[in-house]
Amino acid sequence: MTEYGLIGYPLTHSFSPAYFNRKFKEGKIDAVYHAFPLEKIDSIKQLLADHPNLKGMNVTIPYKGSVIPLLNSIDDAALQIGAVNCISIEGGITKGHNTDVIGFKQSLLPLLKPQHKHALVLGTGGAAKAVTHVLGELGINYKMVSRDTPGLSRYTDLDDDTIAKHKLIINTTPLGMYPRTDECPPISYSAIGHDHLLFDLIYNPAETKFLANGKAQGAAIKNGFEMLELQAEASWQIWTHNYPTV
Ligand code: NAP
Repeated sequence: MTEYGLIGYPLTHSFSPAYFNRKFKEGKIDAVYHAFPLEKIDSIKQLLADHPNLKGMNVTIPYKGSVIPLLNSIDDAALQIGAVNCISIEGGITKGHNTDVIGFKQSLLPLLKPQHKHALVLGTGGAAKAVTHVLGELGINYKMVSRDTPGLSRYTDLDDDTIAKHKLIINTTPLGMYPRTDECPPISYSAIGHDHLLFDLIYNPAETKFLANGKAQGAAIKNGFEMLELQAEASWQIWTHNYPTV
């Protein structure tokens, strides 16, 4: 039986095992998807030796960066971003990919309007790197906003004019994620209008305070659940040699 799996640590409440095992059952696909909690990323070598039927893996926190030197090759987007969340395995040879890029792009594209020429990206972590990679590909100017990264905008720099000008605002911080649902990025929500699109990478809760504040101002809103499903589906397409083209 073909095997797939998720590596990370710890692995609690992970989306991928349930998603893929349901997909295999419904599609009558002779495969199984395991959760492989690895205390150390170096254990990936033994894992591959112990599971010769592994054809693909997903990678989650904290190994999206540290897995890279342990792979045989890496695709261009994952190399530029410095993060791998999907590994394909062919004859024992491993290749790293970043399907967060594909998931975010496919989820964002149908929502873009001509006014979405300038974006604010809140947060500077791994997800922000995938988001800015996509914005660069789409020719959307962006400003990254950080609590304290030198050279980047701070939240206190964002006056009403700046918020009004940047019609696309993307939250890549964990602010508002369950269980701390009363939190949201500290921006001036009153400067948001009907032309804005607010995208939150968080998917639990479905409507974060960030999105609810934007909706109250008449903005379009989108949460991260579709992105989550699309990045999983993109992994499947890579593992089955049906590489996504978006
Ligand atoms: P991460 O590497 O920890 O980065 C989050 C960034 O947010 C940090 O670099 C930090 O930037 C900022 N931040 C952290 N705590 C903050 C706070 N208390 N107040 C303000 N800013 C804070 O995490 P990540 O992997 O990029 O993931 C970020 C979020 O995206 C998570 O909620 C994750 O679940 C979600 N995500 C969703 C998907 C999806 O498919 N929907 C995919 C990937 C990630 P500064 O230090 O520069 O402020």
